[in-house]
Amino acid sequence: MMHERIATACHHSGRSAGDVRLMLASKTVAPERIREAIACGVRLFGENRVQELLPKAQALADEPLEWHMIGHLQTNKVKAVLDVATCIQSVDRSRLAAEIHKLCQTHERSIDVLIEVNVSGEESKYGCAPTDVDDLLDAVAAMPTLRVRGFMTIGANTTDERTVRHGFAMLRTIGEGARARGVVPADATELSMGMSADMEWAIAEGSTMVRVGSAVFGQRVRG
Ligand SMILES: *Cc1c(COP(=O)(O)O)cnc(C)c1O
Repeated sequence: MMHERIATACHHSGRSAGDVRLMLASKTVAPERIREAIACGVRLFGENRVQELLPKAQALADEPLEWHMIGHLQTNKVKAVLDVATCIQSVDRSRLAAEIHKLCQTHERSIDVLIEVNVSGEESKYGCAPTDVDDLLDAVAAMPTLRVRGFMTIGANTTDERTVRHGFAMLRTIGEGARARGVVPADATELSMGMSADMEWAIAEGSTMVRVGSAVFGQRVRG
């Protein structure tokens, strides 16, 4: 059902359905229900909290899954995330990036990351301010264990299409500018944007990964 919604949105934007990956945001969802999604072919899951990521990844360790960290990450929890996640989508400040780099150096490894940007400027949201992205990217460019794959954002909390799309377009522009400046690799083209309520607008603005929760799992009691 969700794959169909993505395919339709891609079609309307003149994009190919294979250009947009589906991630399921599984916060508050128990492993048994995640298994139902796995049975439908989903392999990519995102968690917001380390306390949920670790037990679920462990409970589903028999499945060939990819886990991304998509929520605010405290520096003292980086080590645990590195044990299970293949990508940290919520890198939004140099102190966090430095901690990830330090641990990766210690363990002689690297990690995919996305730079989270608060395109709407809403105070309730985490993410680097658009005006601070250049400084953050300059810092991260000196941390070779962090492989920057692209950018992530949470859309503005409004049903106004123009406002929401403006934010998504801003993320796309930030990515293009960073690649043009050479501060991120030329293949750092990931744009993780679009959720249950705004994925069509995100796909129209170039999203390469939508993160869907409630449209698949139903309304959350909390989270
Ligand atoms: C919860 C969450 C989602 C999914 O939101 P829905 O509106 O339930 O689709 C996507 N991204 C992040 C970072 C989230 O926390």
